[in-house]
Amino acid sequence: MDLLSTLVDKGLRRERPTRDEALAVLATTDDELLDVVAAAGRVRRHWFGRRVKLNYLVNLKSGLCPEDCSYCSQRLGSEAGILKYTWIKPDEAAKAAGAGVAGGAKRVCLVASGRGPTDRDVERVAGTIAAIKEQNEGVEVCACLGLLSDGQADRLRDAGADAYNHNLNTSESTYADICTTHDYSDRVDTVHRARAAGLSACSGLIAGMGESDADLVDVVFGLRDLDPDSVPVNFLIPFEGTPLAQEWNLTPQRCLRILAMVRFVCPDVEVRLAGGREVQLRSMQPLALHLANSIFLGDYLTSEGQAGQADLDMIADAGFEVEGAGTTTLPAHRAEDGAGCGGGACGPSSTDEPEPAGAARPGLVSVRRRGAGTDLPPNA
Ligand code: SF4
Repeated sequence: MDLLSTLVDKGLRRERPTRDEALAVLATTDDELLDVVAAAGRVRRHWFGRRVKLNYLVNLKSGLCPEDCSYCSQRLGSEAGILKYTWIKPDEAAKAAGAGVAGGAKRVCLVASGRGPTDRDVERVAGTIAAIKEQNEGVEVCACLGLLSDGQADRLRDAGADAYNHNLNTSESTYADICTTHDYSDRVDTVHRARAAGLSACSGLIAGMGESDADLVDVVFGLRDLDPDSVPVNFLIPFEGTPLAQEWNLTPQRCLRILAMVRFVCPDVEVRLAGGREVQLRSMQPLALHLANSIFLGDYLTSEGQAGQADLDMIADAGFEVEGAGTTTLPAHRAEDGAGCGGGACGPSSTDEPEPAGAARPGLVSVRRRGAGTDLPPNA
């Protein structure tokens, strides 16, 4: 397939595919799917070998958010039966983080619900970062606290944060469909602030919110322009009690095509298989390891992932290896000089009609009841 040969060559050169090429990946048929995975897998192996980086989420503050992101179980007006709690203490966060590190996580992601932190919140998180770093030598810490104001990224960097996450989530043209309380440019601004402060930028997307192939290509090209070091690819977890509860419109095959497209567009970037992998990829999760070089271990912010041991078994069974603490995740050109996936620059497949939305999948989404904010041990 000429398309795939072209995309592999470009991926190995860190050259941006054309928009039509990216759209064509999303439009491939099921008959072509394994060829697509194999081609994108070559690019993944070229830059990251067979290593899988493990990341561990700690939800510092859960629920009760004033923003109205329609995909989010923590949003204003959410009726999802999630855990709701205010800031957990630094030692509680460090204990939760320690469970993830013990399970093999190299990076701990500290997340708090809300539009953005106050300066007092940032000081609180600074104390949490110190506690985690003191108890877990060498661990990377990424903060994800929402929109940042002046000076906050610098303070987080000074406190020892290695990275900052703020996802674009969807294309600029459809952003208003998923959120009315902030906009796409607010999110872009925060990613710029993080990078300007010297933090490793992490920014990704959520697929499965009713977007078109063109929207997906737009947001991934937007991410490439932002040049993050890591790109989490989330697949919507349609929480009961949120406006998108009925949006079960992904298939495992479409998830794999999306991951392949992201890999071709951002070939040398840490592509992280993030929320929704269990419920949307289901038994196809191991194939996704040929595309993503990074996953979250165990539970998500408000929902349960598969058991941490099941993640480790899946990685070993698929022939991959957990990335060790002494290994640098990014290719040398990125790790050393911060060079990005480079600057440069979907219609639905006839055989890939999405399943009708509205088919509830009860039993696939389990609300998290353990880990941070509870007395129960974390799942790592
Ligand atoms: S700002 Fe964050 S926590 Fe709040 S609704 Fe949006 S995604 Fe959820």
